[in-house]
Amino acid sequence: MSSTNLTLDQRDISFAIRDWLQIGRLKNYKKYAEFDQTTLEMIVEEGISFAIEVVSPTRAESDRNGCRIENGRVKVSECLHKPYQRAYELGWASTSNSQEYGGMGAPATIGLIVSEAINGANLGLGMFFGLTSGAAKLIETYGSEMLKGKYISKMYKGQYTGTMCLSEPHAGSDVGAGITSAERLGDGVYKIKGTKCWISSGDSDLGENVIHTVLARVKGAPNGTKGLSLFVVPYFRVNDDGSLGEWNDVTVASIENKMGIHSSPTAVLNFGDNNDCMGWILGSEGQGITAMFQMMNTARIYTGLIGLSMGGAAYENAKTYAHERIQGTNISKIRDLSQQSVAIIEHPAVRLNLINMKSRVEAMRALIYYTAFQFDLERIAETSDEKENRQNMIDLLTPMCKGWCTEVGLEVVQTGLQVMGGVGYTKDFPLEQLYRDARISTIYEGTTDIQALDLIGRKILRNDGALFQILMKHFSELITEKKDHEEMGHLICIFEGYCESLFETSMSTQKILNERGMEAIALYATPFLMFISSVTAGWLLLQQAVIASETLSKIRSKEGLEDLDDSDFILKNENAIFYSNKLKTTRYFLEAVIPQYHALLEGGKKQNFDALEITF
Ligand SMILES: Cc1cc2nc3c(=O)[nH]c(=O)nc-3n(C[C@H](O)[C@H](O)[C@H](O)COP(=O)(O)OP(=O)(O)OC[C@H]3O[C@@H](n4cnc5c(N)ncnc54)[C@H](O)[C@@H]3O)c2cc1C
Repeated sequence: MSSTNLTLDQRDISFAIRDWLQIGRLKNYKKYAEFDQTTLEMIVEEGISFAIEVVSPTRAESDRNGCRIENGRVKVSECLHKPYQRAYELGWASTSNSQEYGGMGAPATIGLIVSEAINGANLGLGMFFGLTSGAAKLIETYGSEMLKGKYISKMYKGQYTGTMCLSEPHAGSDVGAGITSAERLGDGVYKIKGTKCWISSGDSDLGENVIHTVLARVKGAPNGTKGLSLFVVPYFRVNDDGSLGEWNDVTVASIENKMGIHSSPTAVLNFGDNNDCMGWILGSEGQGITAMFQMMNTARIYTGLIGLSMGGAAYENAKTYAHERIQGTNISKIRDLSQQSVAIIEHPAVRLNLINMKSRVEAMRALIYYTAFQFDLERIAETSDEKENRQNMIDLLTPMCKGWCTEVGLEVVQTGLQVMGGVGYTKDFPLEQLYRDARISTIYEGTTDIQALDLIGRKILRNDGALFQILMKHFSELITEKKDHEEMGHLICIFEGYCESLFETSMSTQKILNERGMEAIALYATPFLMFISSVTAGWLLLQQAVIASETLSKIRSKEGLEDLDDSDFILKNENAIFYSNKLKTTRYFLEAVIPQYHALLEGGKKQNFDALEITF
């Protein structure tokens, strides 16, 4: 029966990086000169093999074992120790971290793909890598030379782990309500006091020290996010010669008993119970939230990636199972009692579930890879205009990656569970764990509703909708360029209809804002996020489908197969199956998936504000 280890669609991944993004072109720039297309593809292949062979076997065991506190410190499942060490030795935990501090230095897109595989193999372990890299990058950007020297290479080698401490018991979505305090001691050193909760990888025995990045308010600073500053707060202080010093008065108060990600310790941490917890400032006072946003933006894309990782793993599992599970007869031969039972993949309803899953997974992959690639293009941009363009796209697409992909990933896993019937609900197959693990992704790093408010409030409405106009311009370019495309023209027309609907929604937004205020806009912010994100993913899938269509024609003429009809032709060429499938998933996504997200906006279009007025 189905493999319990990870499998993922490596063909779609290589198509995305080679044929679509053509990531090898980064080699033309000094920063990535050593990474040609072949090298990049090899890194991806080996990173994925590592995830499948070394990480994936730990998924169920570490879920069963969970984490525990012993003598005030967290112990993770024993089976995680070896893959953790190997990931750092082989570079898979710091694939796109800077070489200056011991990272592999590969493009961000490549690091993200390796993380896609590792997350799918064991999300709890993948979170350690992501948080440690994120915390180290904060030190790289905002830290003094002393902090950089003490921490970064050890974090990129896995000797120290890292965390991101924003949440407090009374400050969840509203980070600015945090009351953890910082008292100046001089020379960038502060005394930290307060409690942080829900801290992922909050403590463990994987590294020899834990480096917390902590938001706190310097005494006398204003309320809200503007008064927050960011500090490096190690569990053990680090001496000037790099050796571990005294305990820094950080206490692990407890760990959470959660629905999923059991291999990831989620801790409540007390800082300064004995009034002896030191923090070193990153950047300057009051710059905390800006600095943390650097980490949060990447962390949000990486959280969106969880939707893709989990959804992708669920699809592969469900597909394999559907080929193997024999049940019922083919519906078109149901009256023929001599008919043998068939694999469930022959049942139309199962096929519909599978194409729903496959098309959504490919759409998530397109959106997330494209966004990650904007980071790489921003880094090599040669003019300030070009840099700004890339940054604009990152700003706009980040809440879409986080908000949409996590929700869609969960839909995909839940559909996969359905495809597997009763066994999907048992621990004999990975789907039930994938579902429990994926469930957190729509909550942490800012819930879906918070992403939607970010998208509308900070990205769409601001500057008279400048970012929205940029996106619409990109959409229009594709429409103008490909409207007359022989095979894709019909889908481009459908896409154009969605663009018009988006445009109308944006126009009515201003009117509603004037008449009913921000409350009415906020009411439909999440349906809007779901719709605009699906249209954006559709735009990217269309680009891929154009390539697929043109490649299919080339294969036909190269192999002299012009006269064969489609179904015979694809049987003659393995690549043709992939490209032909790409056309089908794109068509299905445009014709059948986007309308589901479009429908969510119906109440908004009718200006139904009952939710604001109803008595609950
Ligand atoms: C397993 C796990 C790991 C975590 N890891 C970390 C971590 O490493 N570091 C860290 O700092 N935090 C972490 N968190 C905390 C996480 O980021 C918060 O749980 C999340 O931001 C939501 O905050 P909350 O739980 O207080 O919910 P609340 O803020 O109380 O929200 C409850 C509900 O109200 C909605 N809501 C709240 N405010 C608004 C608003 N203004 N508009 C619309 N809707 C709103 C939310 O969308 C949600 O549906 C983690 C949480 C969990 C469960």
